Amino acid sequence: LAPRAQSSDSLPSVEAAPAPAPIAAPRMVRSKPAPPAEPRAKSRVVVLGSGWGAVAFIKNLDPRMFGEDGPYELVLVSPRNFMLYTPLLPSAVGGVVSENSIVESIRSLLRGKGTYYEASVAGIDPASRTLTCIKQFCEVCAARMDSGAYVPHTEADHTFTVPYDVLLCSVGAVSATFGTPGVHERCYFLKSMEDARKLRKHISKTLEQAALPNVTPEQRKKMLSFVVVGGGPTGVEVAAELHDLMAEDVKRILPQLKDDISITLVDGTDSLLNSFHTEIQTYAGEVFRHSGINLRMGCRVTAVTDGEVAVQRKDGSADVVPFGTCVWATGIAMHPLVAALQAQLPAEVQGSRRGLLVDPHLRVLGSQGTIFCLGDAAVTGATPQTALPPTAQVARQQGEYLAALFSHHRLGLQEQPEPATGDLVPLPAGAKPFQYLHLGSLAYLGSQKGVMDLPFKTPFLKTLRGYLGGQTWRTLETFMQISPRTRWLVMHDWIRAALFGRNISDV
Ligand code: FAD
Repeated sequence: LAPRAQSSDSLPSVEAAPAPAPIAAPRMVRSKPAPPAEPRAKSRVVVLGSGWGAVAFIKNLDPRMFGEDGPYELVLVSPRNFMLYTPLLPSAVGGVVSENSIVESIRSLLRGKGTYYEASVAGIDPASRTLTCIKQFCEVCAARMDSGAYVPHTEADHTFTVPYDVLLCSVGAVSATFGTPGVHERCYFLKSMEDARKLRKHISKTLEQAALPNVTPEQRKKMLSFVVVGGGPTGVEVAAELHDLMAEDVKRILPQLKDDISITLVDGTDSLLNSFHTEIQTYAGEVFRHSGINLRMGCRVTAVTDGEVAVQRKDGSADVVPFGTCVWATGIAMHPLVAALQAQLPAEVQGSRRGLLVDPHLRVLGSQGTIFCLGDAAVTGATPQTALPPTAQVARQQGEYLAALFSHHRLGLQEQPEPATGDLVPLPAGAKPFQYLHLGSLAYLGSQKGVMDLPFKTPFLKTLRGYLGGQTWRTLETFMQISPRTRWLVMHDWIRAALFGRNISDV
């Protein structure tokens, strides 16, 4: 462990940054350790993010290791002071579950184990093991973050640095657009709570506007054309929730609109839910066709213009799909912070376009063991075929694994690198590698139907489909909630929606 001096109950040192560290210039990490900073009593473990990976880590930590007398000091930095249960975001858009029901405060999850800073990390300097953080409430910085330019705000007041001994990077990923023109300007995304709220309010406003007396039938039809791009689980569930909202609530409350509503799902491949069993892919297509959801399969989106999605079919011919609302759900891309960190690590061991390559113990290659990475930001296999999928299930298991690793062993920074491995934070002997256990995949298809890819390796009972699949999905999504409080709220929301309908107001 690093030499110690600071008392265990003092706050981790956070220094106002005189000049924020530049993050753009790629720099190699040398094996020479950084000049010893102020000696600390404990090894400081800094966790980035408050999503699936980070929360699984903090929830499963042994409090004795991170408490007053433990060997670690824990700091969590994230712009979001809550954990979001992402699988129910489509249901929040449809107004079935309330947004408050699927979030849990990070402070209540962290209680007693460490310190939380509400800030965005704008730069990681692996050589000096320092983070440059931007205070979340600074509007100037927020605008810069929104624009995707991770340039630290120059006023020292708005940035601060946090040193670390060991870093756990769980910042997730961003929505992939593949550089398709017009997507950022004209589409809705579904990656965060803000996205879900924006989309839900937009749908509510669209319904109200379409019901105004001065709207022509053509305008109404266009306004009520909902297009979802992406046939993976998120795109499928958004289309399914939109269908249920329109078929069950809008039809009843605004019957004059029902004949003008259309939902179209566009995807470049030939089937929905490609990562699922083929039986499920076929079944999902059948359910959607039966529900009246238009499927435009084998259509790659080439551009999104005002009110039209331009597509190219597999035979090369072009077409357009008109929309009033377009939701973009085509997967994920590397987080800019992760890309900036990757550029500072040796190119011969990094270089994946998906994220940070990690070893079997989730240590970032080329970081001398000082950085661990988990969840969507990490790439576990050498090839896309061997890499684990970017799912909550993987992030959660990785967080649990690291919590066990840190709780059972004392990982700490050495002054000199380990001669054999060059590691500054050596792995203890006997530390087991991470092993993923696939527990199955679920998706909701609308009309109370759902599907589940079962994890059993038997010739029978490979999938669950239909109403039983729908009820299994609902039950599991309720019981896998973040806390007993959110479990209770989600259960309450299902009952409320069944008895009184969905929330279609724009509150
Ligand atoms: P996240 O959970 O995305 O957390 C990232 C965290 O990093 C956030 O707290 C964020 O605020 C923080 N952060 C971002 N930038 C910074 C920064 N600069 N500095 C500090 N912190 C930062 N997976 C499943 O297994 N099953 C499902 O049913 C499922 N459904 C999904 C539905 C939707 C709509 C979506 C969007 C995803 C779904 N997923 C599902 C995928 C799952 O949510 C992700 O795989 C999972 O969230 C990844 O966890 P993570 O910890 O890597 O990142």
